[in-house]
Amino acid sequence: MRRAVFPGSFDPVTLGHVDIIERALPLFDEIILAIGINADKKYAYPLEERVKFLKDTFQGEAKIKVDTYEGLTVDFCKEADASFILRGLRNSIDMEYEKTIGQANFKMSGIETVFLISSPGKSYISSTVVKDIKKNGGNFSHMVPEAVNK
Ligand code: ADP
Repeated sequence: MRRAVFPGSFDPVTLGHVDIIERALPLFDEIILAIGINADKKYAYPLEERVKFLKDTFQGEAKIKVDTYEGLTVDFCKEADASFILRGLRNSIDMEYEKTIGQANFKMSGIETVFLISSPGKSYISSTVVKDIKKNGGNFSHMVPEAVNK
């Protein structure tokens, strides 16, 4: 089975993530949306809410599973029997950041990272911008799936 892990904070899931996930569906038999738990990181949305947003957004999509993990992404991939990591690229800053992580992950485990470039019109969307708009009482509904808007 061709299984991929899409790791992220998903704080919250955005239409940028949804774009990457939907376009990756034909490439894999299963995609695990894996929320990484980092005790040192501050999140805007509690873990349970982030899980629910993902589950609600992709309910009815049999190829998609939602999970959480602590520790190294490659260790989670091995436990889940996934041979691929899925990541999205918005710009050259993402590229530089993802390059070193992808190379380190491959060196550690042999797990390949598959990168999809965001669709035109989606690359301005980020969880960070959504959180900033939220904090300042603005409208971010055009950047997130319905489940987050509710
Ligand atoms: P992390 O905290 O690991 O960066 P995120 O939830 O912010 O987690 O992002 C997870 C993945 O989704 C990353 O590969 C990121 O580049 C990608 N991503 C986020 N927003 C977009 C977007 N608008 N278009 C394409 N990829 C995106």
